[in-house]
Amino acid sequence: MSGFLAGQQRPASVTTWADPVIAPSLCMAAESLCVFGGFLVVSIAVVRDDMVHNVAVSGAGGLIDPTGAPAPLPAFLDVSFPVRLAERLLASAERWGALHFLDQARGIYRNEWTVDHDYRDAEWDVHSALAVPVRDSSGSLRGLIRLDGPVDGRVPDEDAQTRLNEYAAQAARVLLTALEREDYADKLRLAETARQALARASGTDSPRETLGAVADGLVGGLGLLGLRATLFDGDVPKVFASSGTVVDSEHPRLQAIRVRVARYAWEHHTVAITTATEQIDFPLVAGDDEFLRALFAELDASSILVTPLGSGTEVLGALTLYRRADMPDWSPAERAIAQEIGRDLGRVLGISRALELEREAAERLRELDAYKSQLIATVAHELKNPIAAIRVNLEDEMLRSPEAAANPALVAIDRGAARATALIDELLQLAAASDPSNFPLDEIDLVELVREAVAQVPSSERVRLEAPSDGLVLTGNRPGLQTVVTNLVTNALKYSDEDGVVSVAVHARADDVELTVTDHGLGIAPEEQELIFQEFFRSSNPQARRRPGTGLGLAIADRVVQRHHGRISVESELGEGSTFHVALPRTAG
Ligand code: ADP
Repeated sequence: MSGFLAGQQRPASVTTWADPVIAPSLCMAAESLCVFGGFLVVSIAVVRDDMVHNVAVSGAGGLIDPTGAPAPLPAFLDVSFPVRLAERLLASAERWGALHFLDQARGIYRNEWTVDHDYRDAEWDVHSALAVPVRDSSGSLRGLIRLDGPVDGRVPDEDAQTRLNEYAAQAARVLLTALEREDYADKLRLAETARQALARASGTDSPRETLGAVADGLVGGLGLLGLRATLFDGDVPKVFASSGTVVDSEHPRLQAIRVRVARYAWEHHTVAITTATEQIDFPLVAGDDEFLRALFAELDASSILVTPLGSGTEVLGALTLYRRADMPDWSPAERAIAQEIGRDLGRVLGISRALELEREAAERLRELDAYKSQLIATVAHELKNPIAAIRVNLEDEMLRSPEAAANPALVAIDRGAARATALIDELLQLAAASDPSNFPLDEIDLVELVREAVAQVPSSERVRLEAPSDGLVLTGNRPGLQTVVTNLVTNALKYSDEDGVVSVAVHARADDVELTVTDHGLGIAPEEQELIFQEFFRSSNPQARRRPGTGLGLAIADRVVQRHHGRISVESELGEGSTFHVALPRTAG
């Protein structure tokens, strides 16, 4: 029965650590304490999730279990007991410096193991033990070193206590370093997981894609059974499986619980955790509890962590992480990183949702615009032929009969029909400028195009053209650009005195080509300069209003220039004249 002498087994084992150096270091620490301290068994335990777990046991063996049967040392690895129990025993212990003398240590381990040693004639009681609590700077218990059974069977005297305190302090330092390294390694690994997951998210541009990308990374990175990423869009959360596919078969009750839990967790700056066996620590309504238990069974999950995806005061969604019973509990570092991911992802989602809303709004506007253009084009087409027929017949009649030509009513109809034809032509140009299916691009010599367009404009003899003699080639839409030149030059002539000169210039610049049209006419009031590019806008200036117009010429020019990804602007002073600038990229694509 003399374990130390008879056992002669000195295995020392530990559970797995992120850093491979830690395991042998703890074994050595336990072993030295055993040998130099003169104890039969030394165990080193760490605190995880409110439990004290044995991670290294060293000594001569010779332990017996509660039934009195011999037990090998490794059997005591992973033996665990609640921190509360350890703290209670430590509080009631006799203190010898860092050493705590537990004269009745029985009960500290679930299976109440003891050293198998014959202490009949000795001072030492077989159920006594010495323990050294290892605490972090905040005083929290991080580990426990336990010494069982002095080889000499004596309760250590003062000298022995001093010596043991020194050895134990060394072992405690090894343990604290190991824990720090482990924390660090854990944080590093999780930070890397989070970094990679979020890096994937940054390449996406819709909330759905964002979540899909992150979900895939987290399942592997955090070692999960599975993950649900949910967006609380309105009242109907969207659920994504880890592959980014939408799962829409989720029970409405589960969705409701998740929304409630995520909002609660965001408000309380935490993540919500529930396990298959433990009390759920967030607000539930009647029936939720049974529902969740059934869900655990169905998913083969044992623990669920919900992290809210928030931005400001808003909770946009949640990540629900699932683990199975054989997977580790959520470590404090994992909880912290899950919360951080929720915050970062919440921000990313906030942005991508805003972008999506903006895109949707732009898309709706585009659709509306396309519809409007379509409508204008249809109406204009329908009107074009009857009006043309009226004009032809009327002009025939007026040519044939001098009375008809002198008839004021017919003359007025002819003028009106001519105005209507001009309006229809401009409406058709406006529709064409907005039609995405009808915008062929060509290599165009802009100088040549401008020269030809100017030549077609009435009173073109008042136009001076300044342009490079060897031309200027760009890619563009020929009819569109012809319209731009025609409209700007026609306006410049129209809104000038009858003998006013108009200058047209074409320049090559570093990145683009510039066309300017300058007149010395009426000018445009500053408050109207922004408005003139709107459809049907006509100046309030009576002098300008007296000249015929539809208010469409500049709107058409603006659309054509935008289609080329160019810019149109005006500089003008009332009574002095105006200069219109058109910047066109050399390639319109
Ligand atoms: P409109 O058919 O009326 O000329 P536009 O769209 O071409 O329609 O021009 C819109 C308004 O901008 C015109 O009614 C006029 O008041 C003003 N405008 C355009 N070009 C000039 C210019 N060169 N000088 C003064 N005013 C101009």
